[in-house]
Amino acid sequence: MKFGGTSVGSAEALKRVANIVVNTEGDKVVVVSAMSGVTNFLVALVDEPSSDISVVLESFRHKHLAEARQIMDEGSPLYEEFLAEFDRRMKAMEDSINSDRSNPYYRDLVVSQGERFSSLMLSFLLKSMGHKSTALTSEDAGIYAVGNPMSGSADLSRTSLGMTLNVKPLLSEGIIPIITGFYGMNDDGAPLTFGRGGSDYSAAVVANAIDANMLEIWTDVDGFMSSDPRIIPGAVKIDEMNFGEAAELAYFGAKVLHPRTIEPVRVKHIPLKVRNSFKPEEPGTLIHHLRKPKGDLLRSVATKTDLSIITISSAEIAYRPAMVAKIVEKIAEIDVIIYSISTSLSTVAFLVHNTDVKDTLRQLNGLSGADIERIDVKNNVALVCAVGDNLLSKCGVSGDIFGAVKEAGANVEMISEGASEVSLNFVVPMGKVVDVVRLLHDRYIGVSQR
Ligand code: ASP
Ligand code: MG
Repeated sequence: MKFGGTSVGSAEALKRVANIVVNTEGDKVVVVSAMSGVTNFLVALVDEPSSDISVVLESFRHKHLAEARQIMDEGSPLYEEFLAEFDRRMKAMEDSINSDRSNPYYRDLVVSQGERFSSLMLSFLLKSMGHKSTALTSEDAGIYAVGNPMSGSADLSRTSLGMTLNVKPLLSEGIIPIITGFYGMNDDGAPLTFGRGGSDYSAAVVANAIDANMLEIWTDVDGFMSSDPRIIPGAVKIDEMNFGEAAELAYFGAKVLHPRTIEPVRVKHIPLKVRNSFKPEEPGTLIHHLRKPKGDLLRSVATKTDLSIITISSAEIAYRPAMVAKIVEKIAEIDVIIYSISTSLSTVAFLVHNTDVKDTLRQLNGLSGADIERIDVKNNVALVCAVGDNLLSKCGVSGDIFGAVKEAGANVEMISEGASEVSLNFVVPMGKVVDVVRLLHDRYIGVSQR
């Protein structure tokens, strides 16, 4: 079970979470984010180092302890035990902030501190309620990570071994482990984070490692929606979908789940539920392996806005794969996310975020003029991601969808169909995206799923 920042953001929220945990049947392992706002606070601390770190840390301590005192009786032996461990962690955090800033993993080390405190608070809350619980850091639990700073990936086989040694024995003793999300340890035993929002991924990694029979991601919304309710007032909650649909939606639009959460559970066929910790009576969205032919054409329409198309023209580029490889390599050097690529005989086009255009062009300028004839940029476009299990197996579907797009008066600037069997992605000008999404939602989703 994983609980996000707002779900553990106050004493009141923590109590709600503790009740959810103890009312869940069977063995459970819990993963938590930092209390809401804490990771941003730590990021700011790295970006603008404070001259008076002790004042900053005192406010951090105060924020946590104010909530902790609403959970435990101040002065009770349990609170004393908590406080001793809390202050030990405070000291370790201070040491990490004061450590060598030139260490490439310095940022990971500092920004991953928040989870150490939220996990401790939840664990002590459970103890104060009479349950057996232990707070484990990712290091204690044996979660291993590999990769570059701030964008690690879990080493699943080592983590599985680590968790078998460190976490599974606790379960047989009836102890509820509360584990820090967001990071694993690298080869040097130092924290390596999974990127912002990475606690969802941590939880999926833990589920994979212990062969869980269910992963529950508890957040502050009811589940995946058929579209963004801010643009589509009639958007409805999706009860059920498969891993492919959820992965596309998480990647291209919906901010419900970190996009990387799906893979570790998909490979082991572990079903995943997204649920609202503020409304535990709601069933949420169930994501699993099964394909349920529901007959609906579309499940959800998501968008990614503020993108640009960069088109590179070069004679017969289609016959020069090495050239395309060189271009992609150049862009990859600066870690720019490419949302779509499409090629023609003499052009190759990339879809990137507006804010990445400048850097991308700078990289491309490094390529020889003999290779590239022209570069064109079209700013302010949006990607529409239409997701549905039946989408590409039904004949003529894309024709219908593009017909609707035409009705909305939008010009399709770029298409990627077929790369994933459950989604049809295409690009329209920013000014048209709301009309397009509304029309598709009204026509193909409507209120049929209510
Ligand atoms: N606390 C981390 C963040 O804010 C990880 C997470 O919440 O998933 O990015
Ligand atoms: Mg999150």
